[in-house]
Amino acid sequence: MTAARAFVMGHPIAHSRSPMLHGYWLRRYGIDGSYERLDIPPAELGAFFDRFREAGWIGGNVTVPHKVAVMERVDRIDDAARAIGAVNTLWWEDGRLVGGNTDAIGFIGNIDERVPGWSEGGGRAVVAGAGGATRAIVYGLLGRGLEVALCNRTVSKAQALADHFGRGVTAHGSAAIPGLLVDADLLVNATSLGMVGQPRLEIDLSPLKPSAVVYDIVYVPLETDLLKAARARGLRTVDGLGMLLHQAVEGFRHWFGRTPEITPELRRILVDDIRAKTPGA
Ligand code: NAP
Repeated sequence: MTAARAFVMGHPIAHSRSPMLHGYWLRRYGIDGSYERLDIPPAELGAFFDRFREAGWIGGNVTVPHKVAVMERVDRIDDAARAIGAVNTLWWEDGRLVGGNTDAIGFIGNIDERVPGWSEGGGRAVVAGAGGATRAIVYGLLGRGLEVALCNRTVSKAQALADHFGRGVTAHGSAAIPGLLVDADLLVNATSLGMVGQPRLEIDLSPLKPSAVVYDIVYVPLETDLLKAARARGLRTVDGLGMLLHQAVEGFRHWFGRTPEITPELRRILVDDIRAKTPGA
């Protein structure tokens, strides 16, 4: 039997850490398989899918800029990918190629691990940002019964997302954040602010209740200024690296038939890689 082959495809793709984590799991479980990095420019997407079956791929991850374009290339789109409007994982099911999205599972799986019971009784979330990542976050939060206030520099983008999801989601400008924090159970940074090379995210955390959780999906640096400030106030915090790890679990399970563990060793490998490539992270 030939080894099972999975991939991550994007353009550019050199920066992807997915080969590192799936490679770790393949070695750990002694699975005869591979996870390859594929640089596919948009003009070659069609040819790639034309040869998908004969190339023997068991599936893979899809990243920028193909997450929306691949939706037209699959036989079925799962509920999460349809609601989020983007595909990040491909796998076969009964001979049909499925396009799914595991980002919401990654977002929720990470906070479930870090703050068990965080969503009992629903609650209110304030999410800063209205970009690609926010769509998956909103889907995940609504699935847990939270109400979501989306706050974005460009209000029209927050409004478009609120219209897309409908009930339970409201749109605001960034200036509304302090007022909204008073009743919030969860604050999420889903902007690119706070990332190495980007300006800091300026949010005064003092209106938050002591029981609130602060979650930053930025993971370079591993502990952003927002998380430092939250920790200094005694608030519970969740970092973004776990989201990356948790979103990968589902893909691996689909392709290789085993639910992989997020071990402290795997986390350390990624942390070391981030620190090696990003001074100050
Ligand atoms: P995106 O689609 O480019 O959206 C960027 C968001 O940041 C938008 O809401 C944008 O506001 C806001 N923003 C950017 N610069 C800003 C500024 N100077 N002032 C105020 N707002 C600003 O990016 P994305 O894909 O959603 O990703 C967002 C962040 O999440 C990135 O740092 C990415 O690395 C991280 N991420 C982490 C994971 C994980 O697994 N942990 C997964 C996905 C993404 P406007 O709409 O006004 O431009």
